[in-house]
Amino acid sequence: MKRDLWEGSPKCIKCKKTMKKAEVSLSGFRVRAWRCSCGEELLHPIDAEKVFLFNKLKDRKIEASVGMSNRSFIIRIPKEIAETYKLQKGEKLEIVPETPKKFLIETGE
Ligand SMILES: [Zn+2]
Repeated sequence: MKRDLWEGSPKCIKCKKTMKKAEVSLSGFRVRAWRCSCGEELLHPIDAEKVFLFNKLKDRKIEASVGMSNRSFIIRIPKEIAETYKLQKGEKLEIVPETPKKFLIETGE
């Protein structure tokens, strides 16, 4: 079984004390982190990567095409979006209509 990093207690690189779990805000995301009494912070690498990937896509317009499958409309989501949002086959998404020209697609995360 893969060991969950979050269960570990890393030591501070500056003062070698055991760091405590914390939550920090990074680009508007809540990111898991560890904090030391000396003020040193260590970001959870998985959470930090998520923010990094999101920031690469942010404020860009990404094209998606509409197709048909068994008389249903399907939207082909570009790979970079699927990877950033960790979409899984069969995953249920929520569509939120916003204006006559715009809708949001929300993931379960
Ligand atoms: Zn420290």
